[in-house]
Formats: sequence, C-alpha cells, structure tokens
Amino acid sequence: MPLQQSPYILYSDGEGNIFEDTSLYVTGRSGWDAMSVPVDEWIVLPEGGNLYELPGRRGIGIDVQTGEMRLCEKGWAVAAFIPPAHTGLYMAAYETAPDAPTLPLFCYTAAGWFDDKFYVPAVRIEKDIRQECEGFDDEKIQQGVHTFLTAYPHNRLVKHLAENCCNTYTCPAARNYFMGRWECPVPSSPACNANCIGCISFQPQEETIISTQDRLTFKPTAAEIVEFTVPHLETAPFPLISFGQGCEGEPLLMWETIREAIIEIRKHTLKGSININTNGSKPAAVKALCEAGLNSMRVSTNSAREKIYTPYYRPNNYQFSDLIESLKIVRSFGGWTSINYFVFPGMTDSIEEYEALRKLIIDTDLCMIQWRNFNIDPDWYLGKIGATDTGECMGVKQMMELIREEFPTLKFGYFNPSSERIKGNFEADFAH
Ligand code: SF4
Repeated sequence: MPLQQSPYILYSDGEGNIFEDTSLYVTGRSGWDAMSVPVDEWIVLPEGGNLYELPGRRGIGIDVQTGEMRLCEKGWAVAAFIPPAHTGLYMAAYETAPDAPTLPLFCYTAAGWFDDKFYVPAVRIEKDIRQECEGFDDEKIQQGVHTFLTAYPHNRLVKHLAENCCNTYTCPAARNYFMGRWECPVPSSPACNANCIGCISFQPQEETIISTQDRLTFKPTAAEIVEFTVPHLETAPFPLISFGQGCEGEPLLMWETIREAIIEIRKHTLKGSININTNGSKPAAVKALCEAGLNSMRVSTNSAREKIYTPYYRPNNYQFSDLIESLKIVRSFGGWTSINYFVFPGMTDSIEEYEALRKLIIDTDLCMIQWRNFNIDPDWYLGKIGATDTGECMGVKQMMELIREEFPTLKFGYFNPSSERIKGNFEADFAH
C-alpha cells in the first residue's frame, strides 16, 4: 500500500543498532542539498538491501511539529544499500563532521521507517532476477566450483573465478556461472588506462578507502578463455559471457587476446551473446572485436558531459569522444549498446546532464541505459571532481520518465541482456 506520509528518520547508536526518531521526517539528498522526498517515491526496502550507519554524520530531518529542517542529534545518520535491479532516487541527507572518515565504495540511498517497515526512495528498473539474493543456492554453487575446478585443473581464470570472485567477493556473476546459468564473467586485464576516483579494483596508497576487489594479477590466454566459455554458451539458459569485470582493469587493453578468443569461440558455438563491459577508450580495438563477432558492449560513465567525465575517470591517452565513437562503431555492426550510467541524484538529473544525455542517445543510437547506483561517498566524489554547484535539477524519476517518453525504443535496465531478450520480447516478464 503506498505511503500516505513521509517515513521517519533513522539513526544508529554507533554500535550497529538502528532506531527511528518519530519527531523527524526523513529527508533525501540531491547534490549538496537536503530536501523533502515526494511521498509516492518511497518503496519498502527490497529483499537483499542493507542498512549502514554513517560515522561522523548526523541525519537531516524535518520536524514533525514545526516543519523546520534540523539535525537528528540522537546518533549517527543511516543510509541504505539498495539491491541490484533497483535505482535510488535520493541519497541519504546528513551533515558531515570535519573529522568524519571517508565512506567506503557503496551507494548511500536515503532510508526511513514507517509502520514497522524500512523505506527507500527508489524504483525497480530491471525485471531480470539474475541477482536476486534468494535465487542463489550455496550448495549448488559449491558443487559447481568443485565440478569446474576438476574439469579445468590448469585454468587460472576458472581458479580465480572460484577462489576470489565466487568464494571471497561473493560476486553474483561468478556465482551464476558456477550454477551453470545466465551471464558468465570473463575478467582478462590486470591494467587500466583510466584512474577512476572510485575504482573498485584499485585504490592508490594515499587514499583512506580500499578497493572492494583486488585487481587480476595475470593475463589469461585465449585458450584459457575459450576452454570454459564455450561449454557455458552451449549449456546455460539465456547464455552470455561478459569481458570487463569489477576485479580487473580495462579489457580493451587485452583486445588481441579477446579477439582471438571470440574467433575461436564462434568456431565451436553460435549460441548466446558475447558482451564487453568497458570504458570504451579504444574505438579501433572495438572495431576489431566487432569484426571478430562481438555482440554487445556496455560503456561505463558517470556522466554524458566531458567536463564531469574527465575529472572522475582521469583518462590516460584517451578522451570522452573515444567512448562515443566506440558506441557508434558497435551500432554500425548491428550490435547492442548500453551505458552503465552511474546515477548520482543532483548530478544525473541536472538540466545540463539531461540535455547531454539526450544528445548522446541520439548521436550513438544507443539501445539501453543501465541506471546504476553510484557506489561512492557523495561528499568525497563532489569534492574530488570540484562540483560546488550542481545546477538546477528535475529529480531522477522525472528524468527517467522524460527520456522514456522521448525515446520509446530505448531500453531501461540494470543488467546486460541475453540475445534472447534482445531479439525477443524485451519487456517480457523475465523470470527466466
Ligand atoms: S575504468 Fe574500471 S578498472 Fe579502470 S580505473 Fe575505472 S573503474 Fe577502475
């Protein structure tokens, strides 16, 4: 049942215990500003979501009696990590103490409490259930790990996927691979030609936060890639393989090996989709991969504006126009293109960003936007890219609606689609 009023603010005692304060309605954050969130934009925190206490931060609320905005002095602020397939519309609003630690690389969506339930301002943007936590069967996964390690005893990549990705980072893509279904991750590059502020596989020594994964330390051979991906494409339901994972650098730096692998894979099977998640930095390499048989490409970006992109990605020897060119090239081969769009309320939904995104969609004939939550400390991010004034904003939900209205064939989601979905009824109820 939709809410009739704003939820109440949450706070923590600093020891992991969370309480509601019914003297304050919770607010949301957009850019640097705290604001009231429209009541119809709250949903119950989805299964698989988590709550975080934010040390050194006081939540900002609206006094239930006076309507005044004030701090919740009862404890630390609280935010939600919303599960994949959902996009957050407002971040948690709080005041940060000067000595507060930088927050780790997670998303910090606003969270409130009402009628014995936690609420978040978010939308379910993706029907695909591939990362629903209740869909993972640990016993089946460990059976798969044992089976594949036995089947490929000398394959360093399968060993990495088993020991690191699946059993250390609990990566949902690796767990799906070991359950023999859907999207199989294929990391390949120990190096990167960008220096993203919020890189999840490498953080410089001088930063206080750590990367959530360690970067791959070896260069797999084409033979190692082919050995386990062909059987996956042949046997898995709705099969796809994806180069470019969170535990590596930039896959396009390994394009010769990936090209060799794609050519060999397609000699054995025409099933499924071969995708690459990339920063799109090398158009010529993308062309070579399309000629070899690449089916789809997802380019990650924090913005459709070069002036916001460059201070975040800090690219080596490439520039924003290269990723635009890469997107066009894949479309020229009839391939599927997505952007992995890091959603930051107050930046993403600014009028300037909206206009830039419209231009990118038109110029590249883009197929899909994956509206991803930006896993980064908001103050740290805005400070690092020098964003003091984020400009006039319309709200993430309204922006989605305007884009959907203007580009009716453009798909919205959170995950790389299988070829069945690309060629079939994309909006079908995707319970696989
Ligand atoms: S492109 Fe990826 S691997 Fe490279 S710095 Fe950015 S987040 Fe890290």
